[in-house]
Amino acid sequence: QPAEGTLGAATAYTMGDLFKPGSLIDYPIGGAEAVADALVRGIRKHPNCGVTLRRRVESIHLDDTGRADGVYISPKTSVPRELEKEGPGKSEDALFLKATKAVVSNADIWATSKLLPSSPQAVQKAKDTPDTPSFMHLHLGIDATGLTDIDIHHSFILDMDVPVDAEDNCVLVSIPTVLDPSLAPEGKHVVHAYTAGCTSYEAFKGLDRNSDEYKKLREERVQVLWNCLEQIIPDIRKRTEIKMEGTPLTHERFNRRTRGTYGPGWLPGDGFPGPDALGVPGLLQCGDSTFPGIGVP
Ligand SMILES: Cc1cc2nc3c(=O)[nH]c(=O)nc-3n(C[C@H](O)[C@H](O)[C@H](O)COP(=O)(O)OP(=O)(O)OC[C@H]3O[C@@H](n4cnc5c(N)ncnc54)[C@H](O)[C@@H]3O)c2cc1C
Repeated sequence: QPAEGTLGAATAYTMGDLFKPGSLIDYPIGGAEAVADALVRGIRKHPNCGVTLRRRVESIHLDDTGRADGVYISPKTSVPRELEKEGPGKSEDALFLKATKAVVSNADIWATSKLLPSSPQAVQKAKDTPDTPSFMHLHLGIDATGLTDIDIHHSFILDMDVPVDAEDNCVLVSIPTVLDPSLAPEGKHVVHAYTAGCTSYEAFKGLDRNSDEYKKLREERVQVLWNCLEQIIPDIRKRTEIKMEGTPLTHERFNRRTRGTYGPGWLPGDGFPGPDALGVPGLLQCGDSTFPGIGVP
């Protein structure tokens, strides 16, 4: 059954609400970036509080008792550790930040465990955590001439006889410039189409992102999105001025989500971990690797 073991109640509630007559959905003016900027401002305005960007955590340090007591952060120009050959550790010029109370991580549970190679228990807990699949994505900038009557959101279930989360079976589209034209130059729309957490990582695993094999596979797998978009805007390919295609490898690299995952795949009834998800004293996990887990696509 498609809804079995999923967050069926939450999904039904959200969909019901979205399609009530006169219902509204809030979009931040300025896009998602405006939300991140507001969070940074909210932290920096407090004395002795700061936000350091573009410096990844290389490892979480454990004291002699096994308690997390700080992190090593990389120099600004360094290559992300997971893209290097050797495992996590600390580079010569890494900076140590001592924790006053605790280390808090919202990197996903698998990424956090890689920062703790000396804790086999944490590594095992991450290994035991089920994940959900990944995504194909298309971000487009298109000529909006004459597109005066389009809706912002569109959902496609391609085959109703198989589960909603079967490979590439659910495609969602949003055109946020319908609501906030300031997100694109005058006369243009931005279009976002994606498979909703139903694309497996396996087909892409280990491919070199610069290889012809990868580019060919990306081209093939993105067709499902174009086919749906053509149902909304038949001549969308001709209108396209900017095109960005994403695969599970894109999300792994740029969003730093392990295997490009939507997030942990605990099912209702499994029990969700709390902030001590990895069982390391002094280390608190937050975000979707803890209760209540991922959201609704
Ligand atoms: C492509 C995609 C589409 C999604 N769509 C939806 C959706 O429609 N609806 C929904 O509810 N959810 C969606 N999700 C899931 C949602 O994005 C996550 O549940 C949410 O972002 C989790 O927030 P978080 O803060 O826990 O983790 P994240 O957003 O993953 O934030 C963790 C941060 O830690 C950083 N990080 C990782 N390792 C390190 C390190 N070593 N040093 C420093 N920083 C590090 C990462 O760069 C990242 O910024 C989607 C996920 C993906 C990948």
